[in-house]
Amino acid sequence: MLHLTGSPQTQINGYILGKITRKPKGFTQRGDYIFLTNGEKPAHGYAAVFTAELLPDKSIAAVLCDPQELSRLHDGDIVEVHNDGRINILYESSSDHNTLLVTERCNGSCIMCPQSLVSREEDKTPFTLRIISLIDQKAQVLGITGGEPTLLGDGLVRIVKACKERLPHTQLALLSNGIRFEDFDYVKELMLVQHPGLIIDIPLHSDTDTEHDKIIGVKGFHKTIKGLYNLARFNQKIGIRVVIHRLNYKRLPQLAEFLYRNFPFVFHIAFMQMETIGLARENIDRLWIDPHDYNEELREAVLHLWRRGMNVSIYNAQLCALPRDLWPFARKSISSWKNIYLDECEKCDSRGDCGGLFESSLDLHSQYLKPIRKQ
Ligand code: SF4
Repeated sequence: MLHLTGSPQTQINGYILGKITRKPKGFTQRGDYIFLTNGEKPAHGYAAVFTAELLPDKSIAAVLCDPQELSRLHDGDIVEVHNDGRINILYESSSDHNTLLVTERCNGSCIMCPQSLVSREEDKTPFTLRIISLIDQKAQVLGITGGEPTLLGDGLVRIVKACKERLPHTQLALLSNGIRFEDFDYVKELMLVQHPGLIIDIPLHSDTDTEHDKIIGVKGFHKTIKGLYNLARFNQKIGIRVVIHRLNYKRLPQLAEFLYRNFPFVFHIAFMQMETIGLARENIDRLWIDPHDYNEELREAVLHLWRRGMNVSIYNAQLCALPRDLWPFARKSISSWKNIYLDECEKCDSRGDCGGLFESSLDLHSQYLKPIRKQ
């Protein structure tokens, strides 16, 4: 999530949520919008006004912002403003990587979790529903993530329902650890929403319960497996995700065989380079392996699945650290707001095809990164 800083001219109670516009809106619509103005246009009735110059009218919820910060905002972005001046960009209209963080609670404790989690929180469902009501209906894809979204119970069902009604043409990608889907009745409730564009991505970290459970920090392997089958009974489109690190790279070929034998119905399998923030960074001594050093196991796993007709991808990888025969599987998967390239990438002939790195990988990445020259 991108953050900006402003300076509220008036007291903000709680927070203000609104959609960015530079074009003036009719008075009855204004409550949904945050207006960007140079102070010349009338600005009453908006949820807030972002301005580079002080406004004389103190009855307007104005937030003074640096013009450079304002230039990072686009019409259709959805932002949350706090009294301390923090501005969180919750939805970027120009990005295909928008994700709603619907809860920061989780029923797992993954050793490489990039999120910071909480044990208690206020129900964020009303807030999420409000964001959904502001999203442009032309949005192509929307992610739902946490924490663990299924901990919202009925709240998640309401969120998926709201997406179906408000954004009928938007693909919805739900990321879940799948543990809650062991409950058939809950799966049924979610499936009865009949969202036509719902994809559920579920991580599996190993083909063995011991290794998987050691990574997620709870006994969840058998529940997730049961959840996968419950979802399959409704023909739900399912993706499997495998985050690779030192604890699980050796058994990638066995995991591939396990996936092929037991889940031939999944529509996609993604092998992912680990993002080194949050708990992953705290546990880095146990987790880190240079991505180049697991290429052999990755190749065997990917080609094993591909030869058997499975749809398989590699996420978050840099082309120069991947064997050439795996390049067709590499996808540009890192969200735009945390995607970087190194200075030497400017000399690389494959920069346009390469997905680059996570911002958090600046100080810790493969030692084998170097510009590719095509001659
Ligand atoms: S040098 Fe940079 S752009 Fe080129 S393949 Fe490597 S990481 Fe990608």
